[in-house]
Amino acid sequence: MVMYKIEYEDGNARVGKLRTPHGEIETPFFMPVATKATVKTLTPEELYSCGVKAIISNSLHLFLRPGLEVLEKHGGLHKFMNFEGIIFTDSGGFQIIREGFFLGIRDEGILFRSPYDGKKYLFTPEFSKEVQLRIGSDVAMMLDYCPPYPVSYEEAKKAVLLTSRWAEKFPKGEDKQLSFGIVQGSVYEDLRKKCAEDLARLNFDGYGIGGLSIGEPKDVMHRMVEIVNSILPKDKPRYLMGVGSPLEIIEEVKRGVDIFDSVFPTRNGRHGSALTWQGKVNIRRGEFKNDTRPLDENCSCYTCQNFSRSYLYHLFKEKELLGMRLLTIHNICFLQEFMARLREEIKEGTLEKFAREIERVYR
Ligand SMILES: [Zn+2]
Repeated sequence: MVMYKIEYEDGNARVGKLRTPHGEIETPFFMPVATKATVKTLTPEELYSCGVKAIISNSLHLFLRPGLEVLEKHGGLHKFMNFEGIIFTDSGGFQIIREGFFLGIRDEGILFRSPYDGKKYLFTPEFSKEVQLRIGSDVAMMLDYCPPYPVSYEEAKKAVLLTSRWAEKFPKGEDKQLSFGIVQGSVYEDLRKKCAEDLARLNFDGYGIGGLSIGEPKDVMHRMVEIVNSILPKDKPRYLMGVGSPLEIIEEVKRGVDIFDSVFPTRNGRHGSALTWQGKVNIRRGEFKNDTRPLDENCSCYTCQNFSRSYLYHLFKEKELLGMRLLTIHNICFLQEFMARLREEIKEGTLEKFAREIERVYR
């Protein structure tokens, strides 16, 4: 069955349709992050009202808490969190080695200790897939080894060799759930190339590009994405993991990326920072104290339709939780509107012009 179909192209940018067990979605799209089975502070209805069709959760976090038994008792993650859209799950490889419970890398997988009960676990590619199947997500990301940045060439090479080996072992071809590979290789061109070539030979339903947007210079990230996308099969979706600012999204869509996720809009919202068509706005600034206009006059979200900048300023000054919620709603809605506009510009063949407008306000 064909899971992905490209319908429009503008340079290297594409608009396509990705089919999943919970419906179809048009690319390029952005996924809010729901690591622990919640997009922080928002209800599913609030997500739908912003046009969110897909989110990403984390299988390692869910495995540890609430645990697979609890999820299965509900009939899977969709029912547990009452979200009817598309759910991606990350394998957790990225998180394991960054958090305190990492014990080491083995040839077979990643060894870690649960911070809750002290039990040791070895996550292998096969076990990672089994966990994600039991969680019931629509798209499972393969178990990968994602070293931090900066990292030595030797360590990055080891990560690529292990990731390629685990990619072969990661189960694919399951009707209930798509499987995506993840290309590693840090900032080393030959390693990115090798990893992309190794994974391109395997029949994944799509491909993640991991280990970027973790502190390396922006032009290096652009270069790595270009190399990887020149090798990955053109007819499979490409997902740049952890990227979510309007400027970076547009830069990478121009390089052929179809899917994004990031805590950028939610985390910024909770800290009083709003994404608007005029650029980033910090609502805590004194100039908003008496400003009765909405956050963004061109935004149709619940926050902009009902509240003034002055009220939002007041909520943040008083550290009221509603302020965080309202800005999160706006940021999620803004980014969905931004992605819809991006898809239209690709269809019209005017992406380059739109990119220059966004550069002007976000640079
Ligand atoms: Zn708004």
